[in-house]
Amino acid sequence: MTTSVLESNCPNCSIEIQWTDKYPERPFCSERCKNNDFIGWANEEKKIAGNSSYEDVFSEDGE
Ligand SMILES: [Zn+2]
Repeated sequence: MTTSVLESNCPNCSIEIQWTDKYPERPFCSERCKNNDFIGWANEEKKIAGNSSYEDVFSEDGE
């Protein structure tokens, strides 16, 4: 008997997951990745919203 399971990749760490109850946080592999992705997304939002802080980040690098 063959069962075809839809497979996907975690958007955060790209690990392969299966579209089953084994991965309740799908498409993420775990709750941790789910949260990580959200944090990253929130940070991107901040970067885009705070254009004025771009220079601050740049000078902090000391390049
Ligand atoms: Zn993951």
